[in-house]
Amino acid sequence: MSRRFALHHYLIGNSMRRKLIAGNWKMNGSLAGNATLLEGIRAGAANLNADLAVCVPAPYLAQAQAALAGSAIAWGAQDVSVHESGAYTGEVSVSMLKDFGCRYAIVGHSERRSYHGESDELVAQKAVRALAAGLVPIVCVGETLQERENGQTDAVVARQLKAVLDAVSAQVAGIIIAYEPVWAIGTGKTATPAMAQQVHELIRANLAQRDASAAATVNILYGGSMKPDNAKELLAMADIDGGLIGGAALKAADFLAIAQAA
Ligand code: PEP
Repeated sequence: MSRRFALHHYLIGNSMRRKLIAGNWKMNGSLAGNATLLEGIRAGAANLNADLAVCVPAPYLAQAQAALAGSAIAWGAQDVSVHESGAYTGEVSVSMLKDFGCRYAIVGHSERRSYHGESDELVAQKAVRALAAGLVPIVCVGETLQERENGQTDAVVARQLKAVLDAVSAQVAGIIIAYEPVWAIGTGKTATPAMAQQVHELIRANLAQRDASAAATVNILYGGSMKPDNAKELLAMADIDGGLIGGAALKAADFLAIAQAA
């Protein structure tokens, strides 16, 4: 971290960054179940010290839009195509997401990187495509257990981040980063607050090398088994600006309890 940025960071702290608690529903849900979940979240969303969002499976975007219209809760998708339109069977474009009022699109989730072979470059292009359409990409980065054990965490995260920062160039301020250690996703294992903070700090320093003022405002979320009982400690760290929540986002009470911890 440069001395100038460190001072700026110290002075500003995280007071400029309102926390964001975003749910990643993954491939879960049904019309009936979602109705209950969305209603529950909406009913408990008043007077929170954080912004809320749900990233739902694409077929349920219209349902989320209808259920959340007029509320402060935003919604988004879990992936987006790098293409605008055409012969790309199964893909969903940014303009389709815009049609359904999405604010966010998760890109580069580790499940997309590992099960669908998404490269750093493809993830970066998806982020660019989302930004160009006026969506906020939530860019996921994070190391596997083996990479952590080999001492490669910083290098892996920096490499994943570099591809995105190179591609978005002057639009750094428009993105959100989610640090999601792969070994903590859906496993019940959580990075300790200190472990997470160390990587968040590294991410912010990387952002600052590109754009110091954007680095002070970009939200860096933590994801990986965040739950009501560990959220407070994680969210208290200087560079943890919210959470990307998988399993615990499927119960309104748990999701809201995490938001209350923010
Ligand atoms: C995720 O997949 O984005 C995630 C954080 O999942 P979980 O909270 O279930 O670990």
